[in-house]
Amino acid sequence: AKSAGKACYRVFDHTMRERAELRMKLEEHLHRAIDNNELRIAYQPIVCLSTGELTGAEALLRWQHPEYGLIAPDKFIPIAEESDLIIQIESWVLDHACQQLMSWQKHLGEAAPRCIHVNLSRKQLILPELPERVSRTLQKHQMAPESLHLEVTESMIMEDIEVGITSLKALRKSGVQIDMDDFGTGHSSLSCLHEFPIDVLKVDRAFVANARHVQDYAALLEAVLVLADNLGLNVVAEGIETKEQLALLQGLDCGYGQGYLFAKPLFPEQFEELIRTYSQH
Ligand code: C2E
Ligand code: CA
Ligand code: CA
Ligand code: CA
Repeated sequence: AKSAGKACYRVFDHTMRERAELRMKLEEHLHRAIDNNELRIAYQPIVCLSTGELTGAEALLRWQHPEYGLIAPDKFIPIAEESDLIIQIESWVLDHACQQLMSWQKHLGEAAPRCIHVNLSRKQLILPELPERVSRTLQKHQMAPESLHLEVTESMIMEDIEVGITSLKALRKSGVQIDMDDFGTGHSSLSCLHEFPIDVLKVDRAFVANARHVQDYAALLEAVLVLADNLGLNVVAEGIETKEQLALLQGLDCGYGQGYLFAKPLFPEQFEELIRTYSQH
């Protein structure tokens, strides 16, 4: 038993060290990623569930690493968040996502998405100059503030509630829309919701995935939709993968949806193809 324990420990130790090494390497490489033009943005459509219209797109970051290939955001955003690198990366995302939306609207007209959704990190949210920076980026691209949705999570706001709410209020005042991302996974109670200065609730995919099998989830989902309606919030259901899930959400009058059933996050060229198929309907 003792030797087995030892072997276990060795394996654990090994992977821990490997992980630490990989992490250090990634951090080092990440500093060069912007300059080397290795960051990419994939876009996932957001669809109106009653009309089937493609109304928006969420910008989701990818890293095309020369050695390791395409890296998902969960693997490197936490590393970037430990330094101020995240600020630089997110400014890049915001700038490119706005540029992309305006380019689509110019070249594809009516068929183009009306809005672009960009994720924020906590560090960015509490940056005093964030509203000013966002305004400058919008001006640069001559983009209406209403066309930009910034996505934040409950836990990001709760970490420093006063600063977070002040920042969100300033952004909203300038016309930018605020989405509460991953709603239902945080710790704030439903009764806090009216205190957050937000426009959209993005209901986490755990609700969507479980609603058909676990009755409690279906009841919660319904309660969230009623509450959102009373608070005048739009709802986007995340992670719709099946027609059954879509039908259930349509039955509950959920406004918007996002998920693999419509499309996975796509790089611009494929996204443009998708826009064309949508506009033919
Ligand atoms: P998120 O903001 O909740 O984005 C939705 C994630 O769910 C995306 O993962 C998307 O690919 C995935 N997804 C969409 N539809 C489905 C579905 O039907 N089923 C399943 N299983 N998954 C679905 P992704 O692209 O890997 O991004 C992961 C997270 O990384 C994002 O979660 C977001 O928190 C973060 N992230 C991505 N880009 C940025 C960024 O520019 N800045 C910051 N701060 N975070 C970002
Ligand atoms: Ca998001
Ligand atoms: Ca989400
Ligand atoms: Ca998330």
